[in-house]
Formats: sequence, C-alpha cells, structure tokens
Amino acid sequence: MIERPFGPLERTVPIVGQGTWNTPTRGDRADEAKRALRRGVELGMVHIDTAEMYGDGASERLIGEAIRGLPREQLFLVSKVLPSNASYEGTLRACDASLKRLGTDYLDCYLLHWRGGVPLGETMRALERLVHDGKIRSLGVSNFDVDDLQEARTALERDPIACNQVLYHLGERTIEAHEIPYCREHQIAVVAYTPFGRGDWTDRAGVQTLERIARAHGATTRQVILAFLTRADGIFAIPKASTVAHVEENAGAGDVQLDDEEIRAIDGAFPARRRRGGLPSL
Ligand code: NDP
Repeated sequence: MIERPFGPLERTVPIVGQGTWNTPTRGDRADEAKRALRRGVELGMVHIDTAEMYGDGASERLIGEAIRGLPREQLFLVSKVLPSNASYEGTLRACDASLKRLGTDYLDCYLLHWRGGVPLGETMRALERLVHDGKIRSLGVSNFDVDDLQEARTALERDPIACNQVLYHLGERTIEAHEIPYCREHQIAVVAYTPFGRGDWTDRAGVQTLERIARAHGATTRQVILAFLTRADGIFAIPKASTVAHVEENAGAGDVQLDDEEIRAIDGAFPARRRRGGLPSL
C-alpha cells in the first residue's frame, strides 16, 4: 500500500482508507462490517473515517468495537463535528463524545463536517484548543471551497489545516479546477469521499477504458478508479465497504500505479465536469 505525507503532518498515511457512512451497525451485517474494518487495517487501510452524524454515533461505536485491542498508534482515526454543534463549547463537547464512542483518547484528525452557517472563528479556535489539549493530533475541514479555506486559514492562530475532505469521483471532478491546486499550494491533504459515486460502474460510458486498463494491471475497475483519483501526491481516497471481500478489493488499489497514457485515457473517458482546457497537472 502506497503511503504519502498527509498535508503538513509528520506521519505518512496510506492513499486508500476506509469510509463508514451508512455502515451497517446492527445484527449480522454489523459483525461483517467490523470484520471488514479490521481486515482493512490488516491490509494497511489504517485511515478510518467517521463522523458524529453517521448513524447518530452508531458508526463511531462500531469502529470502537472493531479496533479494540489494535495498537492505537498504528491507526489514523478521523471524525467530524456537525455544523449544528460547532460553537466553541459545542465543538469541545462533540469531540469528547466522539472519543468516548470510539473508545480512544485522541483523534488523528478532527474535521468540521461542512461549512453551514458556522461561526468559523469560534470553531477553529475550539479545534486549536483540542490540539493543544492533546485530544486531536490535527484539525481539518470538509466540503470547503477555496473561499471557505481562505477564511478558515485566516481564523486559525497556530495550527495548519491538515485536510479538506471533499466529493471526488469520475463523474464529479470539479475540485480539480480550484480546490486541489489551492490545497497543494497550502500543503493541505485532499481526501476524496464517495470515490465510487456510490454507484455501479458497469453500465457507464467509459467503463471499457477502465476495464482495458484494469486487465493490463491484473486489477479490477474499482481499483483503477481509486488509483486514478489518488494519482497525485497529497490526494487520498476513503471508499466505504462493509464486507471483507470489498475491503480486500479496495486495499488492492493501493498498489496500482497508472502511467501517463492510462491517466490521459481515463481523463478522456470521463470528461464530466472536469476543468476546461484539459487535464490539470496534479
Ligand atoms: P462510496 O463511493 O465509497 O461507495 C460506497 C458503496 O460502494 C457501498 O455501497 C459499498 O458497498 C460499495 N463498494 C465499496 N467497495 C466495493 C467493492 N470493492 N465492490 C463493490 N462495491 C463496493 O460512497 P460513500 O458515500 O460511502 O463515500 C465513502 C466515505 O466517504 C463515506 O463512507 C464517508 O466516510 C465519507 N463521506 C464523507 C462525506 C462528507 O461530507 N465529508 C459525505 C459522504 C461520504 P458495501 O457497503 O456493500 O461494501
């Protein structure tokens, strides 16, 4: 599994992690989801993404059970505060509640889930306080455009923004135009959420290109999709999978390296909403 520096952090993080939105949290499917998370960690997908919003805390609880007994330092745990909780005191409280549900005493990164009508200055100060108190190792944001990022950077007094978690898949590539270059310039990791567009790719135009490239690598189309999205430094992807088989497939993407011709071919096959003027040099 390829690892790379995560924004300004000292540690490296594997390019493919594990999302947990809508992860089954009850019954047999929850047991399978826990096995899948552990298997993912075993295969190097130590970046686990969650949020207080997911299942109203149930996703964090499930992760807490799944990671029990694993060496904490090995993991890269990320959670998010809801805008509705993101006042100064509210953010501190929300973080404590997430830590409790996860059964850990720190998060590797803690994000504001989306901008909403949040008092950004207050929230950023609360996140800095959490870093200072050792409850989070770094702070980040999600669904931020360049204006939001600029405002957040101005509001921060000490700590840098470690990441911006954003929607990025083959059918939705608008972040290539502004957010990715901005994040690159300011050493902010870009974390691609919903990397599969939550959909089935087998009936989409362009899939033949993915299949051809997948065959050449002895890989699957989903592995090629993840390799394409994470083709440049500073970009990570967090597919969500709730079965061991899916997790194993996704982890395999971490070793697929596409050449320039393959990247150009995928770019041409999935032109939807990409930057005008062709493939940006990421
Ligand atoms: P994804 O694009 O990751 O798609 C998830 C779907 O793909 C699930 O149905 C899953 O099935 C299926 N899948 C995963 N791997 C495979 C595979 N190898 N073969 C076949 N099917 C597969 O969508 P998400 O929206 O879940 O995004 C990923 C994560 O990003 C979220 O879980 C969450 O952590 C984060 N996110 C963050 C947001 C934000 O606002 N910050 C918003 C949305 C997502 P199955 O479950 O059966 O394995």
